[in-house]
Formats: sequence, structure tokens, C-alpha cells
Amino acid sequence: MNTARKRAEELRELLARYDYEYYVLDAPSVPDAEYDRLFRELQQLERTDPSLVVAGSPTQRVGGAVSGAFAAVRHSSPMLSLNNAFDDDEVLAFDRRVRERLAEEGLPLAQLRYSAELKYDGVAVSLRYEHGLLAQAATRGDGTTGEDVTANVRTVRAIPLRLVGIAPAVLEVRGEVLMYRRDFERLNGRQRDAGEREFVNPRNAAAGSLRQLDPAVTAARPLRFFAYGVGETAGAELPGTHSALLGWLARIGLPVGAERAAGDGPQDLLAFYRRMQSLRPKLAYDIDGVVYKVERRDWHDALGFVARAPRFALAHKFPAEEALTELLDIEVQVGRTGKLTPVARLRPVFVGGVTVTNATLHNEDEIARKDLLIGDTVVVRRAGDVIPEVVRALPERRGEPPHRRAFSMPRACPVCGSAVVREEGEADWRCVGGLYCAAQRKQALLHFAQRRAMDVEGLGEKLVDQLVDAGLVRTPADLYRLDVATLAGLERMGEKSAANLVEAIQRSRHTPFARFLFALGIRHVGEEVARVLAQRYADTAALMREDWSALAATKATVQKDNARRRARGEPPEPVPLEGIGPEIVASLQRFFDEPHNRQVIAALHAAGIEFVREAAEAGETLAGRSFVVTGTLPTMSREQAHELIRRHGGTVASSVSRKTDFVVAGEAAGSKLARASELGIAVIDEDALLNMTGEAARRRAPDDPNHPVRSDPA
Ligand code: NAD
Repeated sequence: MNTARKRAEELRELLARYDYEYYVLDAPSVPDAEYDRLFRELQQLERTDPSLVVAGSPTQRVGGAVSGAFAAVRHSSPMLSLNNAFDDDEVLAFDRRVRERLAEEGLPLAQLRYSAELKYDGVAVSLRYEHGLLAQAATRGDGTTGEDVTANVRTVRAIPLRLVGIAPAVLEVRGEVLMYRRDFERLNGRQRDAGEREFVNPRNAAAGSLRQLDPAVTAARPLRFFAYGVGETAGAELPGTHSALLGWLARIGLPVGAERAAGDGPQDLLAFYRRMQSLRPKLAYDIDGVVYKVERRDWHDALGFVARAPRFALAHKFPAEEALTELLDIEVQVGRTGKLTPVARLRPVFVGGVTVTNATLHNEDEIARKDLLIGDTVVVRRAGDVIPEVVRALPERRGEPPHRRAFSMPRACPVCGSAVVREEGEADWRCVGGLYCAAQRKQALLHFAQRRAMDVEGLGEKLVDQLVDAGLVRTPADLYRLDVATLAGLERMGEKSAANLVEAIQRSRHTPFARFLFALGIRHVGEEVARVLAQRYADTAALMREDWSALAATKATVQKDNARRRARGEPPEPVPLEGIGPEIVASLQRFFDEPHNRQVIAALHAAGIEFVREAAEAGETLAGRSFVVTGTLPTMSREQAHELIRRHGGTVASSVSRKTDFVVAGEAAGSKLARASELGIAVIDEDALLNMTGEAARRRAPDDPNHPVRSDPA
């Protein structure tokens, strides 16, 4: 047997298997693009050598099967497939063929017009109305014989049981049953919860739902319908053009897609195609292209059919959103916040209109859930502007090792070599070398310098980018070595601003420990936690010396004693590090255990970082009082109010509870205000807060250089 003949046979076998999975099982194993590619290869072989064409070839018949589970229905007029075009040239060729054929038939070419509509990605059905009532519904099957799904179709609410305003002896409506994407997601969610098989896509969910033996199951599935043509008719006067026919179908009660157009030639059709391509991601349902049809219906017969498709219509397909390729490797990227993300390196594949070489795999659980092995053949999806995704692997195509191997997360950061951890209840691994890791450098520096941390005025994103990119700064400690001459050499940096920045950096060396601790960017250590820690520990060395397990034991004892005290009506003792739970403690330990971080802290101290007492010198007037700030205050931002409260010894919480002493409410305060009155908590305004802190008096002396709050011009 020659190679072409052998290949043709192989292709027929493969396509027959895919047809079976797709049409009978409603569970395709390969993307449509893969099927189409093989189909075209077979078509090409058959074109080159017509002796290869056999009667049963998939190129010669309408795909689909008739399952014995349903009664067979013979279609009174066949339900055909459509010829496909994948590019503009093929559309032009279609137009040429139509014109040639019409000319051969002696028809007036000048009257040629086309209609254009969406190509719904669902299941074809034929609805037979007799005397205006739905009498029978059938699937396409092999085009000649379909399956009787009448009982199921009756449960589809989008399909009228009775036509509106007319009752012809026979009207067969042809159209597509489909499922909206949103409904599909919900259905799959329910299937998952019930431990049942999930559907690959909305088309297969629609097909599977329609071909149910129990109509009650179909009834529970949210199916929709769009009409796009007619079959047998008797006793009805139908419009002469396809566009008018669709309008007429809509008037007698059938759902018809709103996106339609008509035009004189291929350019109008291509314009519609492009418009629909950009509309595609916004539609509620899947379409896989658009369909062009010759307008005049009386010319459809004149144009006739070839093999499995009519000559008067053409499906212009969109670039496939799913394709097959090889998973070459899985690499791990470290993000700005230290998160490790596995990324699939793919054999370049054209999908969704672009060549895709990488796709995020999110986290290690995702890889396990999808059972991906390096070396696998995988389905890659890129829909609209959504980032490409590896949908699943094709395990049946797996070769033997060493061609495939399992992925495992690295045990050290691939960028800086620091330890990586995955906290309980979290999906992501993170690098703990926050101060040192090159991937996190810019983020760490910005966080370090921000106003609420070390407060280095003038060190913004653009400057950090330049400093890091030029290799001038690697860790926060390097900031303190910068001089005016170096900085003045940077883009958009004058002598003056360089001098100001150096001064701001130097000034930041004297800072309260709480701010420094917050500036280190330790996971779970926000401002409030840093403040609580700084009340107990004088500096990093003290913090690093803490025996955390001993502390946990002490804490537990105090808590137990307090329970007894409360029962006796005595006031409780303060709990050490109240509110600092095991998660925070673990994070602190991990951070300080990392030698890289300790080196940077040592370098910071060597650069002259010294801790000063929090600027609470103003007085501890709010000591022991807990505040919640809500709404828009007249002159202060919420952060400024927090700072003011803390500077005067008060604490700030984000939600109102029984422990809250005051709620500071501004304009448009919402649920927190309501909660405060519910709990009977004092509500004050900005003025009252300023009075409590003595800040009101200071404000009246606008020259005060230590003025913490922007002076109010009013
Ligand atoms: P088709 O989907 O390319 O086009 C024909 C069908 O389009 C019609 O039968 C009709 O049901 C539908 N259609 C939607 N909107 C229409 C409109 N406005 N006007 C007219 N018809 C409209 O061809 P097909 O024969 O139904 O199916 C073949 C396709 O199915 C293949 O190209 C492939 O993509 C897919 N398939 C995939 C697999 C797989 O394993 N993944 C297997 C078999 C088939």
C-alpha cells in the first residue's frame, strides 16, 4: 500500500474515533482545531488522488450518529453540514464559485446578495410543527436519519410549543440548541459537587443534555435555541430571501440571533466577520464563526450540494481557541511579592489568533489537579484577550519515561536561593528572602521607603526602577550609601533633588522601631502588628532572641488565669503580645531564620539605623483607648487620623466591636456607624478627636514645625 493510501486510512480511523467521542459520547478527547487539521489533511489527500475517496469517508458524509436509545427519524429534507473557510481567500473563492455556478445556470448575477449570521456552536436540531404545534424534534444524526428527542425538546423553554399567528400544515424549523457559558459553568459546578462527570465545553454540555433518556434531566438543564433555517414546509407562504425568512421566524415566535447583516459581496461579509470576532468574547454563548448564505432562497436549489454541504452557504470559522501542543517544561517564576508561580513552557502553537509559548499554571495544586507531566501533549486555550491556559493533558498520548516526568516545586527560591514556604491553607509557595531576593527587590524597596514605613520622601517607583536597573541598589541597606553625585547622574534628577533625596534617606535613619519592623516587609506584619511587637521588643536583636515556645506557654497560662479572674469578677491581666497569633510568629521566625535577611538587617544597622521613641512625646492622652475611623473626615485622610491616634497612645482597629471605645465618623459613614450605635459606642467627629489630642490648639499655631497634620487653610 502506498503511503498516501495508508495515511488516508489512518486518518479515517482516527476521525471516526473522534466522531464517536464527539457525537455519541458528547466527550471529545481532542480540540476541534485538531479534528479540523486532520480532516483537512484527509481532504487534501483525496483531492490529490481521488481514488482514495471511499463512501464511508468522513469527508463524504455528515458527521453524527444515531444511537439506538432513541427512535429514528428520517428527515424529509436532509440536514447538511457546511463547507468551511479559514481565511479571507477562501471566502473570495466561495464567492467566485457561486458566481460561476449562477452564470452556468443563466441566473442574473447582478441580483446576487448575501446574508451573514452567527455560527452557533451547539447541536443541530429540526423542529417539526404541524398545524402550528410542535409535533416532533430530531437531532441531525447522519444528516438523513436523526434521533427523536421530542420529549426532551418540549422541556426547552426557549422553544415554543405553538407558533404565533400561523398554523401551516407543516413547518420544519432548523436551528441550534446551545447552552450559555454562564449556565455551563454553573452546571459543571453542580456536576462537580455531585461527583459527576464534568463537560468539556458548552457545546458538549448542550449535546449531552439534549440526548438524555430521561426528559426530566433535560428539563433541569438550561438549554437555549436559535433558529437559522427551514426544512420541509407545506401550507405556508415563506419570504423569498434568507434575511426576510429569519425576520419571519422571529415574528412567529422562534428565537433568532440579533447579529445579522446583508451585503453585496465578500467585502461586506468580511467586515461582518471582523465585527463579530471582536464581539465574540462579549456574547453570552459560544460561536465558532459566522455563516454566509446566498440571499435568494429560490437560488439555493439551483446551486445544489456537494457531498455533505450546500453550495449556497459557507461557514467562515474563527481562529480556534483551543489547540494541542507539547508541554516542554515547567519553570518557576518569582513575583514581586515573592510568590512562586509555575509557568508552562510550550512548543509554540498558534491559538486564539496568536502564537503561544508560555502559560501560567497558577500553583502546584493546579498541576496536580490537571495531572500534568512534563512531556505531555496538552490542550492550550486562549479565548479573546484572556491569558492562555493549559486546560488538560492527553494522558493516552503519553510516551514512556524519560520523555515525561513529574514536576515538583523547588525547595529553594530559584532567584535568590532563600527558603520557600507554603503556609497552611494557602495554595502558593513564597520565597522568604524578601529583603534580598532580586525578584522582590523593587517591591521591597518601595515598601521600605513608603511614608508609613521609613518615610523616605521622593523615593518613588520610577527612581527605584532606575536605581535597581543600574545596579546601584540591591537591598535597602544600599540606599544609605548613595551620594549626591551618583544620584544627580540619573535621569530627571537635578543636583537639588539629589541632595534632597540624600537628606531624606539620611533622616530616615532615626526611626521608631515599629516603623522599621513594618518597613522590613515581613509577611503578616502590618503596621498594627509591628506596633504591638515594638511595645515588647526594643530592637530586632531582642525580637530575634525571643523564645517563642516559652512565650506561647506563658500566654496560655495568662489566658487561663484570666478566665478564672473573670469568673471571680476580677480585672484580667494583660496578655503578652495579644493578637499576635501563631501564623505571625511562624512568619517572623522564617524571616529571621533566613541568613540573607539577617545580613541585610546587619548592614542597615551598620549604615546607622537607630531607633528613637515613637513621636508620642505629644502625650499619651489616648493610651488604652481603641478607635475606629470611618467615612470621610473634613481635613484629614483616614491614615492621618490613624497616625494621630497612635501618636497619642491610642490603638486603631478596622472594625467596630465591643472593645472599641470611640468611633470617629466623617461624611458618608456607613455600616460601622450603624454598628457603633447598635453597641452603644461613643461616636465623635474630627474636631472632637483634635481636641482630645490637644491637636486643635496646635493647629491654631500654624508655624509649629512639628505640625503633623496639614494645616487647614479655612
Ligand atoms: P460544522 O460545525 O463545521 O458546521 C455545520 C453546522 O453548523 C450545521 O450542521 C449547523 O448545525 C451549524 N450551524 C450553526 N450556526 C448555523 C447557521 N447560522 N446556519 C447554518 N448552520 C449553522 O460542521 P459539523 O459537521 O456540524 O461538525 C463538524 C465540526 O465538529 C468539525 O469541524 C469539528 O470542529 C467538530 N468536531 C470535533 C470533534 C472532536 O473530536 N473535537 C469530532 C467531530 C467533530
